[in-house]
Amino acid sequence: MRNIVLILSFQLIMINLLFSSTISLEKIEPMFWWTKMKNPNLQLMVYGKNIAETKAYIDYAGVEIKKQSQVENPNYLFVDLIISKNAKAGKFYISFKKGKKVIEKFEYELKARKDDSQNRDGFNSSDAIYLLMPDRFSNGNPANDNVNGMLEKSNRTKPLGRHGGDIQGIENHLDYLEELGITALWLNPLLENNMPVESYHGYAITDFYKTDTRFGTNEDYLRLVEKCHSHGIKVIIDLIFNHCGSKHWWMNDLPMQNWIHQFPEFTRSNYRAGTIVDPYASDFDKNKMQTGWFDKTMPDLNQNNEFLSNYLIQNSIWWIEYANLDGVRMDTYPYPYKNMMTKWAKRVMAEYPNFNIVGEAWLGKPSLVSYWQKDALNFDGFNSHLPSVFDFPLMYKLSSAFNENDGWDTGLSSLYDILGEDFLYPNPDNLVTFLDNHDGDRFFNKINGIFNSYKMATAFLLTIRGIPQIYYGTEILMDGKEHVSHGDIRKDFPGGWENDKENAFLQSGRSKKQDEAFNYMSKLLNWRKNNEVIHTGNLKHFIPENGIYVYFRYNSENAVMVILNNNDKSKTIDTKRFNECLANYNSGSEIITDKELLDISTISIGKKSAMIIELKK
Ligand code: CA
Repeated sequence: MRNIVLILSFQLIMINLLFSSTISLEKIEPMFWWTKMKNPNLQLMVYGKNIAETKAYIDYAGVEIKKQSQVENPNYLFVDLIISKNAKAGKFYISFKKGKKVIEKFEYELKARKDDSQNRDGFNSSDAIYLLMPDRFSNGNPANDNVNGMLEKSNRTKPLGRHGGDIQGIENHLDYLEELGITALWLNPLLENNMPVESYHGYAITDFYKTDTRFGTNEDYLRLVEKCHSHGIKVIIDLIFNHCGSKHWWMNDLPMQNWIHQFPEFTRSNYRAGTIVDPYASDFDKNKMQTGWFDKTMPDLNQNNEFLSNYLIQNSIWWIEYANLDGVRMDTYPYPYKNMMTKWAKRVMAEYPNFNIVGEAWLGKPSLVSYWQKDALNFDGFNSHLPSVFDFPLMYKLSSAFNENDGWDTGLSSLYDILGEDFLYPNPDNLVTFLDNHDGDRFFNKINGIFNSYKMATAFLLTIRGIPQIYYGTEILMDGKEHVSHGDIRKDFPGGWENDKENAFLQSGRSKKQDEAFNYMSKLLNWRKNNEVIHTGNLKHFIPENGIYVYFRYNSENAVMVILNNNDKSKTIDTKRFNECLANYNSGSEIITDKELLDISTISIGKKSAMIIELKK
């Protein structure tokens, strides 16, 4: 008996020895890179059983190994390369040797960076962005609804299930989007979310380099961007540095313990982004804000880990370069460590100087949001280098202004007041403005279904400073409330699925009211498209009086007068008060109704409505 135990123990030791000497290579990320990048450094994450026991070798002109780093986990090796300006595009082997023996080989590729890559224009105030949730827009390929190896199967009856929308579905409706008049698409994340439940929204990434197969392949993503570009539509990727999905492949085998923030028991973020700038905030609260998990299924990444920070920065550049993207929307912007985020923004903008990045700093006051925009005059000297932020403060006011009676600081005056705080923003024209998005009540609900309020808000959004963003379905009055369920505000676009009873992509499939809403928005978007005075013109506004708000967009050549009447009755206004803007103009064309105004000394405006008047000399 004792002998058997000894033999068994001996066998176990032998098996252990055998396995510990097993070395294999599973993956290298980024899988390929480019020549002629501004930054010559590239750090490869090499993953495989005991790969840290090897040393990497490269024999390729212009590519040098600067450093190799072993970390806590022997299954990772980080290899720092320098790619010189003279390096030519091509393929070469990276050999992983133990002693003199080559254990593994990987064929690496340097692709040729396109000459105009660094000159790409990011989205800007000449654009109008359409935000859509890929799982909920259109199912162009039912064959990919369920894929072997993916944990969640599609089930359209579940509000929080996967519904089967995909890249093909978006591609099928680019004519619709072009007709609507939008010029940029912000897609909620397309990257793999191989999570057991609620994987549809995309914010629990399980592979940073892979498009979710239920949406399509990386090649499909690339093709979608090409097709968008041929329709005059830019594409904005949605990235998340704050967290990943709990089923991310590295969660079972972390490179280092401090790769993520870990606690003895589950610790949730307090979501109080204001603590980052609050002069009285406790370290306890600030720390919990930044290191607590966003959700049980979303481990909080430690961006102060240099290897992870490199990984994330390179990943974003890889996607921009690979898919030829025009912008980035960064999720939960104040949650990661801000100095790392600054480093990131600087690196991306160095590679693409005319690019644009918008950060989600979900805060209600201009003083709190402006802190995060590049070149803000901050009390602590902090500069995010982030070009754009979402205008959450304006969104909140737009959600209430049209429901309120007009008083000193209510109704239209609340819009007037909030714009008066624009001095806090270094670049108000580069704010992304919106009525609603995927995280809150649908705008139609916020204004209690009052169609005239919808029209006024749309007119305001598309003529005020900033880059307007429209949430999919708002153009056809889709409804939904956040407190009912996230599924309620992320419903399927009618007509996106075969055999849908309604098809709002076609005029014949829209109700009369939906069609009126679509035409209203489409008319203004298409008018806005080539209207420089709205993109970059000055803004001047007048104190709202008696429920009427008047503002002007103007430059040296053109001027547009916008009038909002929030009253339940029509009004006639004397325009003498606006003389400093009207002095050179005698008449105008109203854009919504196509009516000519031959005399603008007095203007009549219908109840609860907007007028947009192109002024004429
Ligand atoms: Ca599908």
